[in-house]
Amino acid sequence: MGYSLTLLVYEAFKFAGDILPPSNIYRDSTMAGQSKDNFNQPLGGNQMPRFAGQASFFRLPVQDDATGLDVALLGMPVDIGTSNRPGTRFGPREIRTESVLVRPYGMATQAAPFDSFQVADIGDVAVNPYNLLKTVGAIESAIDDVLAAGAKPISVGGDHTCTLPVLRSLAKVHGPVALIHVDAHADINDEMFGEKIAHGTVFRRAIEEGLIETNKMFQIGLRATGYAADDFDWSREQGATVITAEECWYKSLAPMMDQIRESIGPDTPAYLTFDIDGLDPSVAPGTGTPEPGGLSASQGLEVIRGCYGLNLVGCDLMEVSPPYDTTGNTSLLAANLLFEMLCSLPGCIRRS
Ligand code: MN
Ligand code: MN
Repeated sequence: MGYSLTLLVYEAFKFAGDILPPSNIYRDSTMAGQSKDNFNQPLGGNQMPRFAGQASFFRLPVQDDATGLDVALLGMPVDIGTSNRPGTRFGPREIRTESVLVRPYGMATQAAPFDSFQVADIGDVAVNPYNLLKTVGAIESAIDDVLAAGAKPISVGGDHTCTLPVLRSLAKVHGPVALIHVDAHADINDEMFGEKIAHGTVFRRAIEEGLIETNKMFQIGLRATGYAADDFDWSREQGATVITAEECWYKSLAPMMDQIRESIGPDTPAYLTFDIDGLDPSVAPGTGTPEPGGLSASQGLEVIRGCYGLNLVGCDLMEVSPPYDTTGNTSLLAANLLFEMLCSLPGCIRRS
């Protein structure tokens, strides 16, 4: 009899579990004691067709600033720091458009970012399309505001110049950060066309300004042609680890990320900056300085997923130039990479 009663109770709970919506399953497992119902949710594909409605990042609510947020998604429509093809000023808008296809759960990681964090799209930084230095200042000020609100920034470029003011702002709060930098290029030129600020000088300036803990800096995917055979050595001389694309070919990058996590440790404030040209032009042609032989899309996912366990204090995705990819695939991939960044933030719950 006891057995039958137990079975009955089990069956009743099992049945309840089958019919309860996901919101009830996770109600007690989210951060800060908040229920999922308190968090912004992406507009579902059955509430409004995915091709319709407002094209905010991930179909999340839009708000003016980062008040009340754990994570702020913001656009940086900049391409006046670009050296070759322009067009990254259209990146944020196109990535928003393609992000409507991204659904709220990671099937492989089981990550549930929108059950974990309050996230919204806070729009674009009001950049000055005639003045790169003023644009850099506007971005630093915007990130200052995000951090003052207690939120983490996930920035969507825009050319890679945008990362310098983000790092300046972060250093004011966190001190120098560990850096995971995916890119075809080292971006460590001293000058470009006589200018100190451009998309290819970012990490030289950041290191000079003490914004990066260089012995915890990893540049992944560097490759192709340079001006001199020792182009990447300046980074190494500063203490950074350079992992060329050739070192990544034909293999999973998960073991490499295990090592990087071990080197950085779980407490050091860390920043992930992802230049889309780190990936191969076959998967990400929509960019200004494409180089053959880059990382695959799945290796890009592995790098971002491998950041889970770090104390990520922010992330960015830069250098998507939609006019060079009429298929939209570069922006779609970028949107998925941004979703993976949300999933890799500390405190992002897993369903299991
Ligand atoms: Mn770059
Ligand atoms: Mn690059």
